[in-house]
Amino acid sequence: MKNVLVTGANRGIGLATATLFKQSGYHVVATARREEDIANLAELGFESHHFDVRHRDNLDTLYTTLKANGSLPDVLVNNAGISSIELLSRVNEEEFTNLLDVNLKSAIFITKKFIRHMSKNKFGRVINISSVLGSMPQKGLMSYSVSKAGLEAFSRVIALEYAEKGITVNCVAPGYVDTDMIKNIPYAQQMHEQIPRREVATAQEIASTVLFLAQQPNITGEVINNNGGLLMKS
Ligand code: NDP
Repeated sequence: MKNVLVTGANRGIGLATATLFKQSGYHVVATARREEDIANLAELGFESHHFDVRHRDNLDTLYTTLKANGSLPDVLVNNAGISSIELLSRVNEEEFTNLLDVNLKSAIFITKKFIRHMSKNKFGRVINISSVLGSMPQKGLMSYSVSKAGLEAFSRVIALEYAEKGITVNCVAPGYVDTDMIKNIPYAQQMHEQIPRREVATAQEIASTVLFLAQQPNITGEVINNNGGLLMKS
């Protein structure tokens, strides 16, 4: 049985991904930052652990625990993410740094930690959850876009470095997905009009693309767009 690790698995795309992988026969390590969420995930039948992706000591503890449990990941889904909306004139350096830590830097160092195990096994899948905003400019979303464009660049380079080891590294880039993340976006009304499909995606639709990538040995260094045609409009 293959092991998959999903970060930020307590809600949204992370929970949908963890659920779909479990239904598909994987052993799922689902991580979250709050005790109540970790307990809920355990009740749902996942191996659940505390993990705030910003903290390297959390990462070290998680690695040690998974190694002891025999559940180091064959498939790593770097899903945890945050968004922010502000024009350049209002960008706050501390908030910008925090966003990069969560969305970009964490994915780099989590991958670095677990890829050695994948390398040894000559099998691995790293799937990073990017965004259409990594390619499509939108006013007020500079910090988020920069983090996701960085994630895509990171994925391409690492895909190249590890291609011979049986490891693929890809991104899934959703458009708008019906999760808490988009609940407070002020332009929610215009969203439907922007999307050629005229529908916001479900978290399950994104999860199925993540599962697809986990099953593909020959797709690497790619960004799989899953956005109802939104990118065509940019
Ligand atoms: P949600 O806001 O529903 O979930 C975000 C998840 O990330 C939560 O589980 C949250 O945990 C977790 N998280 C945030 N910060 C940390 C942290 N420091 N350590 C650990 N976990 C953390 O959003 P989505 O499910 O929509 O987002 C998942 C991914 O999809 C993100 O990378 C996002 O950028 C991307 N995405 C989403 C889109 C959308 O329209 N929804 C579109 C494009 C991309 P907690 O509950 O503790 O806050």
